[in-house]
Amino acid sequence: MSAPSFDAVARVFAPDALGATVRLRGWVLRTRSSGGILFLVLRDRTGVVQVTGRRDALGDEVFTAAEHVQIEGAVSVEGTVAEDRRAPDGREVRASRIAVIDSGEPFPIFSGQTEEFLLDQRHLAIRSQENVAIFRVKAELLRAFREFLDREDVLEMTPPILSGNAAEGGAEAFQFDYFGRPGYLSQTAQLYLEALLFPSERVYGLTPSFRAEKSRTPRHLTEFLNLEIELAWCDLDGLIDFIERMMVAVLHAVAERRPKELKALGRPPEELLAIRAPFERVRYSEAIDRLSKLGFPVQFGSDLGTAEERALTLESTSPLFVTHYPRELKAFYMLRSPDDPRTVEATDLLGPEGYGEIVGASCRETDIDRLKERIGQIGAKTEEYEWYLDLRRHGNIPHAGFGLGVERVLRWMLRREHIRDTTPFPRTPSRHTP
Ligand code: ATP
Ligand code: MG
Repeated sequence: MSAPSFDAVARVFAPDALGATVRLRGWVLRTRSSGGILFLVLRDRTGVVQVTGRRDALGDEVFTAAEHVQIEGAVSVEGTVAEDRRAPDGREVRASRIAVIDSGEPFPIFSGQTEEFLLDQRHLAIRSQENVAIFRVKAELLRAFREFLDREDVLEMTPPILSGNAAEGGAEAFQFDYFGRPGYLSQTAQLYLEALLFPSERVYGLTPSFRAEKSRTPRHLTEFLNLEIELAWCDLDGLIDFIERMMVAVLHAVAERRPKELKALGRPPEELLAIRAPFERVRYSEAIDRLSKLGFPVQFGSDLGTAEERALTLESTSPLFVTHYPRELKAFYMLRSPDDPRTVEATDLLGPEGYGEIVGASCRETDIDRLKERIGQIGAKTEEYEWYLDLRRHGNIPHAGFGLGVERVLRWMLRREHIRDTTPFPRTPSRHTP
């Protein structure tokens, strides 16, 4: 015997559904009863619908059981689609049958609870309509990235997460015992993607990165999804053009495919559709001039912190490229600028409205002696990077790439105060459960 088939809630709202019999199953958002009529609001992956049932039609036993289903209990329903002007979407289902699948225990989540409590209950809190909307936008964003990269002939690669190298050295790497030797969780897949570039020329990885960030800020997670791309034969202008095209393409794709969710989350899709290339480009040296006029004095050589990045973009609705940072501020593998030994061919893309860095990008140093010198300067041993240095010994070519924090993009797109809202189970210094 085959299993009985069920309809999706969305079917109730199809033009030809009035008067039809439907069979639904899902979770209960709320129930109430009055005067022998039960009102039950049901949710499935496609939507929300009001179900009504009369005691005399359902029978006492079923009616009482359905009345006592808790929030997030599970039921199945058979009934007829009817017009009802009082129902939220103008239609309801009049039940002829209700079966309780799991009555459920009292649901611990309700309005007015603290952020901390909700994070403790994250495994249940993720069912909220708001969270579902966030996850849908995130999935759409990932799809849009993959579609764009596929169109651009960039090959998806699967770099490792476990490594015997701390890619960027030191303090921010999570270290663990790898059968008696030090192992590290990937901070970036970049060094591996540089190796993978040679057989494929254009590669990307979409993998988690881990940072033992000491600072607690609203834009740092200890685990985040890192979209990293390496392009052969690419200079800084080519890299900036690529990032710009990619951002416009994915923002527009998400705005077109998830307008309802975006609006519900506080970002009118028109604002994303209004973002167009080219984005403004400013050199670091010019950025610090601007900053001192804005009341944020920065010496050449000092990093731009959260406050400075915020000041640079607070008034703008379009992202901003800051280029040519002092080389001491940046990773050892970044290419020294041909016209200025103090700076590197690098750019950070800052999100608009003060959201700060969303992409870190650079051309990669091709001069092996300079690489060795920089590795020494950051206090690392060149022996540990021998395999990486080999890449400069066999078909050394100009190349460039970047890392994009997926949750950073979402934080800005969805106007979230804290980055943790953009991921189902956020990891921060104070929390790695549930
Ligand atoms: P920041 O200065 O904000 O710490 P970073 O310079 O350390 O960033 P990169 O090493 O360039 O960042 O990493 C590439 C991208 O990964 C960043 O542009 C950002 O979007 C994202 N990213 C970096 N660290 C984190 C983090 N702790 N949580 C979430 N996203 C991050
Ligand atoms: Mg960092």
